Amino acid sequence: MLNFTRRAAVALLAASTALSGGAALAQDKGTVGIAMPTKSSARWISDGESMVQQFEDAGYETILQYAEDDIPTQLAQVENMIVRGVDALVIAAIDGTTLSNALANAAASGIPVIAYDRLIRDSGNVDYYATFDNFQVGVQQAESLVAGLEERFPDAEVWNVELFGGSPDDNNAYFFYDGAMSVLQPMIDEGKINVVSGQMGMDTVGTLRWDGSVAQARMDNLLSANYTDTPVHGVLSPYDGLSIGILSSLKGVGYGSGDMPMPIVTGQDAEIPSVKSIQAGEQYSTIFKDTRELARVTVGMVDALLQGGQPEINDTETYDNGVKIVPSYLLEPLPVDASNITERLVDTGYYTADQIQ
Ligand code: BGC
Repeated sequence: MLNFTRRAAVALLAASTALSGGAALAQDKGTVGIAMPTKSSARWISDGESMVQQFEDAGYETILQYAEDDIPTQLAQVENMIVRGVDALVIAAIDGTTLSNALANAAASGIPVIAYDRLIRDSGNVDYYATFDNFQVGVQQAESLVAGLEERFPDAEVWNVELFGGSPDDNNAYFFYDGAMSVLQPMIDEGKINVVSGQMGMDTVGTLRWDGSVAQARMDNLLSANYTDTPVHGVLSPYDGLSIGILSSLKGVGYGSGDMPMPIVTGQDAEIPSVKSIQAGEQYSTIFKDTRELARVTVGMVDALLQGGQPEINDTETYDNGVKIVPSYLLEPLPVDASNITERLVDTGYYTADQIQ
């Protein structure tokens, strides 16, 4: 009923705009509210741009907002979108557990909600989830860490490695960590990898808000407390922004010069500073998640929901948000290292060759 009233009001408004000769609402299939976490990381800017473009191409208007990683700001933005009468919400949550009340309001107004890239937890009012295979991201990070260790430190009997996790309020962080540990834990158990600090587990190695300076400070501490008389060979980093901080810390004590080879440092998102760093032989690898594809899947889901179709999904088991298993579409991530930057990032049109020079 509420929904009907809201839709009727929106239709009336559209009709009066058209009648008064205002800007024609092009194909006017409705308005989609897009809440993104932060502009401090380039990937979310690409996500937002791709979605606006693709929603417009499909006949929708958009309201796109970024919250600079501030939870109350994101909450206010989502509430405001609901009040403005959007027809659907696409949300990449900062903290996956803090949106329940707002989403109850959305549901009461008949507004479908898509969790974008990050699962929204503790709410029954999340209709679909569009993301990448997050466990596989972690597997690929660890596989590339091990490949790098074999390549750069073939003679080490034991590889000294430190572990970093993502933000503990982001559901994805656990999937990345668990995926990585599915590869690394057996090697730790058999003594091939030594976490010299002994710091393991998301509650110990997590990095709140994915903050690169927090990771840099933690790496400084790890180095001074554990690596004064033994080298570090590798660092599992779950995100490029952390990797850049970790690399600064390593360079600060001399790694990457003289007789101190740069440890193998992983990453995620193929952000430009990291792609350049890989080309410069510093960061070893990253994981490419094509945000254009994620936007395509999301636009398809919204369009199906609003036009009476069935959103495309390929997973109905993995993403339990504490209240329900959210039907999901998982895209495939792709590892990138110095050997395949051109093929994966330039030939696909994600970056121009100039952008990553
Ligand atoms: C995303 C990653 C990103 C991280 C930090 C995660 O939820 O899945 O792609 O690196 O957030 O922004």
